[in-house]
Amino acid sequence: MELWEIEQCLGKAVKGEVISRESMKNHTSWRVGGPADIMVLPSSAEDIRICRQFATEQGLPLTVMGNGSNMLVKDKGIRGIVLKISRGFNQVEVKGTVITAEAGAFVPTLSVRAARAGLTGMEFAVGIPASVGGAVSMNAGAHGKSMADVVSGIAALTGDGNTVFLGKEDVGFSYRKSGIPDKGLVILTADFDLKPGEPEEIMAANKINLEKRRRSQPLEFPTAGSVFANPPGQWAGWLIENAGCKGMRIGDALVSDKHANFIVNLGMAKAEDILELITRIKNLVMQKYHVELELEVRVVGE
Ligand SMILES: Cc1cc2nc3c(=O)[nH]c(=O)nc-3n(C[C@H](O)[C@H](O)[C@H](O)COP(=O)(O)OP(=O)(O)OC[C@H]3O[C@@H](n4cnc5c(N)ncnc54)[C@H](O)[C@@H]3O)c2cc1C
Repeated sequence: MELWEIEQCLGKAVKGEVISRESMKNHTSWRVGGPADIMVLPSSAEDIRICRQFATEQGLPLTVMGNGSNMLVKDKGIRGIVLKISRGFNQVEVKGTVITAEAGAFVPTLSVRAARAGLTGMEFAVGIPASVGGAVSMNAGAHGKSMADVVSGIAALTGDGNTVFLGKEDVGFSYRKSGIPDKGLVILTADFDLKPGEPEEIMAANKINLEKRRRSQPLEFPTAGSVFANPPGQWAGWLIENAGCKGMRIGDALVSDKHANFIVNLGMAKAEDILELITRIKNLVMQKYHVELELEVRVVGE
């Protein structure tokens, strides 16, 4: 099938948007990456199911993404279909102490909703620019807490088009990981089990967490947050800084002076530049500390 045919077929089948040859620079926080052959922005769980089924039937690769804040898309882009679950599928419902959010809901918005509803527990996530699906899949965390501390269960779509409900223990959370990719699931909704608290105190905690980030992270540039996961008992940022990598630059990709585990895009960085910088950082940390750094960001595309 030609791209225009896929665009037409999917365009008729789903309620959300379908675009062809869409630059991934517009959809990743690093602002790098070549085009996605086809991008679908679903507006319902049914759109997600239809898109997944279509990809399977047509033998097309399917890449699921949320807000693109943890992705490095290579310069030649992504073949097949990119299913971007974000703004079109972002309803949030508060019932007692439980918040149910669709996978595309923006995590900082969810934190603010929780604060306004007088629910505590989501303050750690107020500065994580993720979708709920991406944050749960990555077990995103900060300030000593992570999604595993607040998620009580999820609804997800299986490879054969069924919806399953998983309790927290079946999501398979570990440090910055979950069992979602291995199970081949697409997260549809997540339940957050929070505790009652004082809205003013919760909002004050949110403010403090945001302020800490502003002080320690290069938020003025496009980045993907921490590039490497912290090795057990160590800080990747400390290892990178002390291996002498701060300020290293390839093209427009620069190891941040403010936080060594962030690579900033000064404007025109290519994925190739970032990947080269990643290799150099890994080599220098290995030479000096004999530690193998593991990527936290997900590299996709060709
Ligand atoms: C300025 C900045 C600060 C950051 N700070 C933090 C931080 O403090 N802590 C932290 O942990 N991370 C942080 N990050 C990284 C990033 O926000 C998290 O990893 C986040 O969880 C990624 O969510 P996303 O929606 O952007 O996912 P994406 O980057 O779009 O995707 C990430 C992964 O999730 C999968 N995924 C996305 N949606 C779904 C779904 N619905 N179902 C199944 N799989 C899905 C994708 O396939 C991919 O493998 C930061 C990033 C930036 C740019």
